[in-house]
Amino acid sequence: MTGRDTWGAFAARMHEQSDLGGVLGLLGWDEQVICPPGGREARALQGATLAAIAHQRLVDPAYGEAIDAADALADLTVEQRAMLREARRQRDKATKLPEAFVRRLAEQRSRTNQAWEHARTTGAFADYRPALEELMRLKVEEADLLRGDGTRYDALLDEFEPGMRLERLQPLLADLRARLVPFAQRILDRPAPDVSVLERGFDPAAQEAFSLRVLRDLGFDFERGRQDRSTHPFTGGTAPTDIRLTTRIWEHWLPACLYASVHECGHGLYEQGHAESLWRSTVSAAPSLGLHESQSRLYENVIGRSLAFWEHYLPVAREHFPGQLDDVDALGMQRAVCRVARTPIRVESDEVTYNLHILLRFELEVDLIEQRVAVADLPEIWNARMAEYLGYAPKDDVEGVMQDVHWSEGYIGYFPTYTLGNLYSAGLLEAMRRDLDVDGLVRAGAFGAILAWLREQVHRHGAVTPGEELMREATGRDLGSDAFMAYLEERYGALYGL
Ligand code: ZN
Repeated sequence: MTGRDTWGAFAARMHEQSDLGGVLGLLGWDEQVICPPGGREARALQGATLAAIAHQRLVDPAYGEAIDAADALADLTVEQRAMLREARRQRDKATKLPEAFVRRLAEQRSRTNQAWEHARTTGAFADYRPALEELMRLKVEEADLLRGDGTRYDALLDEFEPGMRLERLQPLLADLRARLVPFAQRILDRPAPDVSVLERGFDPAAQEAFSLRVLRDLGFDFERGRQDRSTHPFTGGTAPTDIRLTTRIWEHWLPACLYASVHECGHGLYEQGHAESLWRSTVSAAPSLGLHESQSRLYENVIGRSLAFWEHYLPVAREHFPGQLDDVDALGMQRAVCRVARTPIRVESDEVTYNLHILLRFELEVDLIEQRVAVADLPEIWNARMAEYLGYAPKDDVEGVMQDVHWSEGYIGYFPTYTLGNLYSAGLLEAMRRDLDVDGLVRAGAFGAILAWLREQVHRHGAVTPGEELMREATGRDLGSDAFMAYLEERYGALYGL
C-alpha cells in the first residue's frame, strides 16, 4: 500500500466512527426534543443497537491495525498525529472493558436512574440507596479495569478531563475552597438585591424571540444550527455544520430562557468553530469537558452577566417586553441576575456559590470511589458539608444528596469539569482583555471580535492540543484559581460594595 492508501484506510474507519456518532447524536436529540412519548422506547432501542455497532467497529482489531500502520507513516501533520492519538485513546479505553461488563453497567445505570427518579417522588433515600450501592460497586470495578498507574478516580476522571490527575486537582480545588468560603460569606452577609423585576411574567414567545436575537448577535450560525426547547437545556447535533441548541422558558423567571440559550450558545459556537480540516475526525471535539464548559460559562456569566451586556441589551429587551422593564436600569438588571444566595440547589445557584456546590460533590465522589465513604453515609455528610460551606441545611434529601442526576447515571469525575470550566473562563477573560477592550465591545454589541479571538485561540484547534496545554498557550497561565478569584472580586466587590 502507498502512504496515501494507508492513511486512507485509517481515515475511512475514523470517518465511520464520526458518522455513527453523528447519527447517535441525532437520535439522542430527537428523543429529548421532538420524539412523541410513544416513540421513546423504540428510539432508546435503536440508539442502543447503533451504539453497539459503533462499539464493535471501534474495537475491531482491523481498526487497531489501521491505526498502527498509519502511525508508522513519515511526514504526518500535527493534526494527523493528533487524530491517531485520539483514535488510539478511544480504542484502548473501549477494549479494556469486556462487552458483558459494559452491558451490566448499562443495565445498572438504567435501574439506578429509575430508582433515583422514584426516590425523588417518595423523598426516601432508602429507595435509591441499594441501586446506587450496586452501581458504585460496578464503577469501582470499571475503574480497576481502566486504571493504569493512577488512582481509581483518575481512571474515571480521564473520561471527561483527559490527562487530569487527582493529585493535581485536589490541591487546586482545596485552594479554591479556602478562598471561596470566606468570600461567599462576606457577600451573603450583605443585604440581598431585589430580583422581582425578573419575575414579572414575560410572554414565552417574546422570550424565545429575544433569545434568538441574542444568539444571532453573539455569532451563532443558524445556517449550521438551530434552537429548540427541551426540559433540560443541552447542546447536541450531528456535525459542526449541524449544531442543535435547546433552551427552556419559564414565564415567571426571565433568566431561565435567556441564560440557558446563551450558555448553550457558548457550547454551540465552540462546536461550529472547529477547523474544517478536522471535520469527521477524532479531534473535531473539545479536548475536555472543562474546556467545553469554559466557553459556555464565558458567554453565560463573564459576558452575559456583565454590566456592559445589560447596557447593550436592556433597550433591546424593552422592545421585546413593552412596558415591563421601564423602571429598571442596566445596573439594576445586573444586580438582579447576579444575586448571590444560599440556595440548596446547584443548578439554581449563582456564580459565587456554584463552585462550593461542586467542591462538595467532588470531595464526596472521590471518597466514594476510593471506598472511604459508604453510600449509606452520603446524606449525613452531604448535609454537614452544606452547612459548613454554605451555611444551609437542606430540608430533605431531594433538596440535598438526591438533587443531581449524575451519580444515578454513573458519572463519577464529571462534576469537577464544571469548576474547571469556570477557572478556564476567567483565565480567558484576563487574556482576552490584553488584546481587546472586552467591555467596550460588549457594550457596543460588537461580539464578532470576541468570537474571532476565541476561534483563533480555542475553537479551531478542536482536540489537536490537549486541554491544559491549549489553555496555557491561550492564557499564558497555569491552571489555578487566581484569575477566577480576581474576576469574582472585581464584579461582586463592585455589586456588593465589599
Ligand atoms: Zn454546559
